[in-house]
Amino acid sequence: MQGVCPECEFDFTTPELEAGETIVCRECQLTLQVQGVEGGVLMLEPIEASLSDWGE
Ligand SMILES: [Zn+2]
Repeated sequence: MQGVCPECEFDFTTPELEAGETIVCRECQLTLQVQGVEGGVLMLEPIEASLSDWGE
């Protein structure tokens, strides 16, 4: 599959991914979540790496 980092516009090829999975851009180290797939191209959204905001 293919995707483009929304932050640094780095083009990369990934193994099979599904919506909700995350990858790390190897160029800018940003964590990206797969929002969906369009025509074999990943729609990626940067997310906060921190998971400490749960509950409260
Ligand atoms: Zn990037």
